[in-house]
Amino acid sequence: MEWRDRWHITIRWDRADNSPAGVVSVERVVDHPDELRYLIGRARADPHVVAFPYRRVRELVGEEPDACLEGHRYAGGSATRPVRDWWPCSCGGHLVLRCRLCPDIRVDPVVSTECDAAKPRPDS
Ligand SMILES: [Zn+2]
Ligand SMILES: [Zn+2]
Repeated sequence: MEWRDRWHITIRWDRADNSPAGVVSVERVVDHPDELRYLIGRARADPHVVAFPYRRVRELVGEEPDACLEGHRYAGGSATRPVRDWWPCSCGGHLVLRCRLCPDIRVDPVVSTECDAAKPRPDS
């Protein structure tokens, strides 16, 4: 999995009749700032658009790992289901999976040099 920046934008029209979608508000999620700029440009150019609030969100995308690094599969029931934990981090956070069959601990996404998850926190 990896953290990715995405943008949520809501476009609101004065009346449903004036919107191309036929509804007063449409919510879109885009992956790229160019797409966001395009939507904002269109919203600005439309005199019937009354508001277009948007926000950046970091989302975890991709599949969770399904086996530990020793090859023990996590699926299959309570005996093999890993113990799940979460490390808060400046990057957004990391999913921690502790294998029940061996000492392996998988951290996903992988902790990078910019991460502060592995360092002790000043308040703990
Ligand atoms: Zn294992
Ligand atoms: Zn991190």
